[in-house]
Amino acid sequence: MKTYYPVIGLEIHAELNTKSKMFCSCKNDPDETNPNVNICPICMAHPGTLPVANKQAVESVIKVGLSLGSDIADFTEFDRKNYFYPDIPKGYQISQYKYPIVSGGTLNGFGITRVHLEEDTGLSKHDRGNFTLVDYNRAGVPLMELVTEPVIHTAKDAAEFAKELQLLLRTLGVSEANLEKGEMRVEPNISISDVEGKFGTKVEVKNLNSFKSVEKAIEFELARMQALYEAGRQDEIVQETRGWDEAKQSTFSQRSKENAHDYRYFPDPDLPKMKLHSAFPIADMKASLPELPWDKRTRYTKDFGIKEADTELYVADPALSAYFESIVEGKDAAFAQLASNYLSTDLVGILKKDAEAKLPSKETFIELISMAVNGEITSRGAKDILAMIAKEDASPKAIAEKEGLLQQNNEDDLKPIIAQVIADNAAMVTQYKEGKEAVLQALVGMVMKATKGSANPAVTAKLLKEMM
Ligand code: ADP
Ligand code: MG
Ligand code: ZN
Repeated sequence: MKTYYPVIGLEIHAELNTKSKMFCSCKNDPDETNPNVNICPICMAHPGTLPVANKQAVESVIKVGLSLGSDIADFTEFDRKNYFYPDIPKGYQISQYKYPIVSGGTLNGFGITRVHLEEDTGLSKHDRGNFTLVDYNRAGVPLMELVTEPVIHTAKDAAEFAKELQLLLRTLGVSEANLEKGEMRVEPNISISDVEGKFGTKVEVKNLNSFKSVEKAIEFELARMQALYEAGRQDEIVQETRGWDEAKQSTFSQRSKENAHDYRYFPDPDLPKMKLHSAFPIADMKASLPELPWDKRTRYTKDFGIKEADTELYVADPALSAYFESIVEGKDAAFAQLASNYLSTDLVGILKKDAEAKLPSKETFIELISMAVNGEITSRGAKDILAMIAKEDASPKAIAEKEGLLQQNNEDDLKPIIAQVIADNAAMVTQYKEGKEAVLQALVGMVMKATKGSANPAVTAKLLKEMM
């Protein structure tokens, strides 16, 4: 069996969530459902109009570059990428060619070629019958494009790269980056070779609207290419754009290289060149970046020692992580771990199921976790109380007393109940004495039942052993 060497490079577009569009003051609103309401003479390319670059969009791309450890260009400019298509009213797209805002840097250890800024196109609707409608609300929306080096080798790494970029964009607050909504579009370039270090012919896959599809499409392409190699038909791998058929879970040829465009890029004479290092306080911007996902991951693992899955939950949800940090501030690792368990599984589960439930106040949640840490309530009791305080903020201690959920730790209170269980189950006690250790758990269970779950299991086991 021969070895094949997969090579993957990603091109990822993300719509930036600026207030207005890239070159005009139209509203940038991805949720607008009425077609052609956020348009003006500039983004509709009326003659005589002039574009003005959106400062917030440039700032967003600089922030991305600073987060990735990239170089921020001093000199940068916009270029015209010429092609004709109805969704591009000017007959060209304003993009960047020779002088991208950002070059170099890494994410998840994979090298980044560049990040540049351009404008999005309108949206063609081909599914309305015998004609096509175009909605220009999206035309001119700021679009960031990130291109990686051809250095990724597995479908999983490619999907994880895209996921991490989504997390970064959300952490920076520069894009919602939902794949399902087309706010983020991942286009993998894929090739394989039978010689290490030698690049094979690549294809580019489009129309992927989930991370799962990104992974599946790459796996499909690699398998398709490998099968062609194995059949000695590798010549049939041609440079082309392929689409992803979600229903069939397969790719199909869309457009081959022969139809590739010559975009005749040239600097846009309507837009001024930019000197970023004098126009933006780059050093201050770097210093005031929010905590980045990878830094937060390291800090959480080091400071709290919580489960990896929990850490990921907080990294992805700044509001939840702020809540968690307010709960565990000044507490020890045991408290943090227990708090995280109840928060990440039980409380998040309740919030998901019940739209009316909400996070209890910080004080209430701390009181509950303290009671659990001190063994004042059983874990069953803690879960019941959690369900109640997620509906209505009230003192966990008061609820525990009222509902009889306080754990019985008092030996003198437990002894008569245990004595009764021993008296009622003479046969089991004999078995235990003969060496059948497992019987102990069954007896603990009976004491729990007799106390409606409130007996402290550890104390109960200890007393049972003594009294038998
Ligand atoms: P093109 O000019 O065809 O768009 P680029 O050089 O701009 O090609 O590269 C586009 C993307 O394709 C980049 O992410 C790059 O890393 C990736 N890429 C380039 N060559 C290969 C290859 N042989 N196999 C897989 N990906 C590749
Ligand atoms: Mg390209
Ligand atoms: Zn406009």
